[in-house]
Amino acid sequence: MRTIIDYFSKTIQESREWKDWRWQLQHRLCKKTEFEPYLKLSEDEIEGLTSKKHFITAVTPYILSLMDPNDPNCPIRKQFIPSGKEKYISPLEMSDPCGEDGHSPVPGIVHRYPDRVLFLATDICAVYCRYCTRSRLVGHNSGLHFNETVEKGLDYIRGNKKVRDVLISGGDPLLMSDERIEMILKSLREIPHVELVRIGSRIPIVLPQRITDKLCTMLEKYHPLFISVHVNNPKELTPEVKEATSKLCKAGIPLGCQSVLLRGINDSAETMKALVQKLLTFRIRPYYLYHCDLVKGTSHLRTSITKGIGIMRKLRGFTTGYAVPTYVLDAPGGGGKIPIEPNNIMSQKDGMVRLRNWAGKIYEYKEETQSSPRKNPEHVHAEEMMLSLKI
Ligand SMILES: *Cc1c(COP(=O)(O)O)cnc(C)c1O
Ligand code: SF4
Repeated sequence: MRTIIDYFSKTIQESREWKDWRWQLQHRLCKKTEFEPYLKLSEDEIEGLTSKKHFITAVTPYILSLMDPNDPNCPIRKQFIPSGKEKYISPLEMSDPCGEDGHSPVPGIVHRYPDRVLFLATDICAVYCRYCTRSRLVGHNSGLHFNETVEKGLDYIRGNKKVRDVLISGGDPLLMSDERIEMILKSLREIPHVELVRIGSRIPIVLPQRITDKLCTMLEKYHPLFISVHVNNPKELTPEVKEATSKLCKAGIPLGCQSVLLRGINDSAETMKALVQKLLTFRIRPYYLYHCDLVKGTSHLRTSITKGIGIMRKLRGFTTGYAVPTYVLDAPGGGGKIPIEPNNIMSQKDGMVRLRNWAGKIYEYKEETQSSPRKNPEHVHAEEMMLSLKI
């Protein structure tokens, strides 16, 4: 019988094993019986953990230690512990909600925009997020031969001179070995037309132990390299995460954050503001806030676009401009990311633009129109002054 380790105890959390990312992965919890000793499971969670589901469950001891053992509404629990509601598939939901497969010239590459590609380098993650957009691809042990896929993807990029930016994602690329990540980065750097490499990863947040000095020393050799992390709730921003992201910052890697707007996890202006402000203190710049995609079995986690716009209205002007992400919808059918910002232009007619400011007050801006460039008396006055000054 497997002995129970108290993952919530300080002694365990200070042990050498705890700080070893491979130990964290080896001790992941997946089944109801594995969670039971640690969490007071709700009926809904029990149903989620026992019913046949389309998407794998895996939680590292580190992530478990951030969960509230008594509260099923804990924002960390809601992201990783399956709910019985996942079995309800809305007629609007899809297995490929962003239409990625339709823009995939070779397996593992999504080429939607003219100058950049998404490169899916692996199909495994450290933990599985219930709302994952790529639940059709990740965590299935589907036997996808990623060695072969990565080679074909690299060939595709080599052959496409227009690709100046490669976004490595998955799955989670930082779950691969240092050697494998280096092989991919080195191959990309050898392609003259690839100017920029980006990595999209949840690892610095969910498995901060993985961000070792050795990994950072290797990554540093392949600049310009950006990393986008993925954080949804301020509870995820722990001292361990700060240590990991500081190492990445010291290696000169600019960090951005992609968040997903999720019901009961971050869909209030207070939580979102706390999240984006805390991100800046970690030197992570909020980049995108995604509206939750129409992924199968996620309707209980989705909220409305109106609510999202309301949250965005309470950020701009009310907090540091750097803290405000772009709220986007990754359009169903493969339209790509479409910003859904609050509309601040109230009307625009005959060179007169009426705008609403952050506090809701209306301002007017007069534009010079081509037909009447000098009709504005202030302009005439300025011109006369310049003439009289002989400038
Ligand atoms: C998000 C995404 C990118 C990168 O988009 P940016 O707006 O440049 O960050 C590239 N390709 C695909 C298919 C994407 O979904
Ligand atoms: S880490 Fe990213 S790819 Fe992996 S399950 Fe979460 S959202 Fe999906």
